[in-house]
Amino acid sequence: MFQKTISELAKGLRAGEFSSVELAQSFLARIQAHDPQLNSVVTVTAEAALAAAGAADERLSNGDAVLLTGIPYLHKDIFCTEGVRTACGSRMLDSFEAPYDATVTLKLKEAGAVMLGKTNMDEFAMGSSNETSFYGPVKNPWDLERVPGGSSGGSAAAVAARLAPLATGTDTGGSIRQPAALCGITGIKPTYGRVSRYGMIAFASSLDQGGAFAASAADAALLLEAMCGFDERDSTSLDRPVEAYSERLDDGIDGLRIGLPKEYFGEGLDPGVAAAIDTAVGEFEKLGAVVRDISLPNSSLAVPAYYVVAPAECSSNLSRMDGVRFGYRCEDPRDLEDLYMRSRGEGFGAEVKRRIMVGTYALSAGYYDAYYLKAQQVRRLIREDFAQAFAEVDIILGPTTPTTAFKLGEKADDPVTMYLSDIYTIAVNLAGLPGMSIPAGFAGGLPVGLHLVGDYFAESRLLNVAHRYQQATDWHTRVPAAFGA
Ligand code: GLN
Repeated sequence: MFQKTISELAKGLRAGEFSSVELAQSFLARIQAHDPQLNSVVTVTAEAALAAAGAADERLSNGDAVLLTGIPYLHKDIFCTEGVRTACGSRMLDSFEAPYDATVTLKLKEAGAVMLGKTNMDEFAMGSSNETSFYGPVKNPWDLERVPGGSSGGSAAAVAARLAPLATGTDTGGSIRQPAALCGITGIKPTYGRVSRYGMIAFASSLDQGGAFAASAADAALLLEAMCGFDERDSTSLDRPVEAYSERLDDGIDGLRIGLPKEYFGEGLDPGVAAAIDTAVGEFEKLGAVVRDISLPNSSLAVPAYYVVAPAECSSNLSRMDGVRFGYRCEDPRDLEDLYMRSRGEGFGAEVKRRIMVGTYALSAGYYDAYYLKAQQVRRLIREDFAQAFAEVDIILGPTTPTTAFKLGEKADDPVTMYLSDIYTIAVNLAGLPGMSIPAGFAGGLPVGLHLVGDYFAESRLLNVAHRYQQATDWHTRVPAAFGA
């Protein structure tokens, strides 16, 4: 059952081969059996899942089901869920039960998708390895001594081990694409503004974007379609109709112009990763694509600009966590200041504090122009690089990450090295473009991710290109041995 595609599952449900309740039970059993090794799920909502599955079965028998009705999924613990804890990987929100659903949560409920639980993540989505979570690190199912990537590491690891066929994620600088790459699955982050941020706990509001994880592009297309759409409760939401992503999957890619940015194939790229990407490029050529070299000259400025903009925004967003209105509160505060200081001091972890300090500094009166303003100007240059590239090519292709999954603890004490694992993904968020990662082979036994970037609103094209590649290859069907059959 756990190896079936979403459309096979949907067919099976309609044909009465199995019920949604049985489907939920079988994945809940996988979570119970395998998650102790992975630590990818922080809250299992078995009872609610079975109730939702029962309701889905009724819809299915009444004939008013849509494609996701009765399909189980795991939800990143950054999306608010009414009546279910939303902890965002932090001690600060360990006891937080949102009084409302995020728009994405609601949309998936309305579609009839069955939430099995909430996934582990880096604290407030700050990290690239899932090691900053208050709930402990997630393990990579391909090698339990390695990280799954972050910040959506729980979602990526769970889908890689097939503990759920689908999972949600968010991506501020790479948090969907990087863990998808390190876990050997498909992950897509759409154009900024496509998925509502209402009820999605804010890290860096001008960069944060929700998206989808699945084994394949065809499956991810279905989840993404259900998540997208205009939301008047999010002022940055885009009022444009959502395309039926799954209908364009089989379009031909003959003549597709693919650009390879020379900056993404230079120093720091692991030779095994480079070799896998090379082979994939050959595959695209066989499918009729035309490949050419391009340049994104300001690429090297993306990580430094991001580490000014993202901390600046988070320092403001996280100021609401003050120990007064919700979340963690220290014991016996002496006075108001002590309450603020100790609640925040005890509630936040080291990485979050580092970012708040960097951000507060960058925004302070004497430094605003030198750092924040400068970073915003660099952001504009990066956008222009992409605009120029997309005048010449349809899709930009490269590695998602410079290396395969690294060892737990390997980069934990060196934030700068950790930050560099998003070197190829971050510019896409600064520009607000859609991007995705798909499995493209292995290096040293570990999955390699291929990064595809499209122009604004090109989600449909990205999914189509990924799907055509997946029809010609079988990397996306591989399941880590310990979690197979
Ligand atoms: N790894 C990056 C960071 O730590 C990106 C995280 C994300 O996309 N949420 O900020």
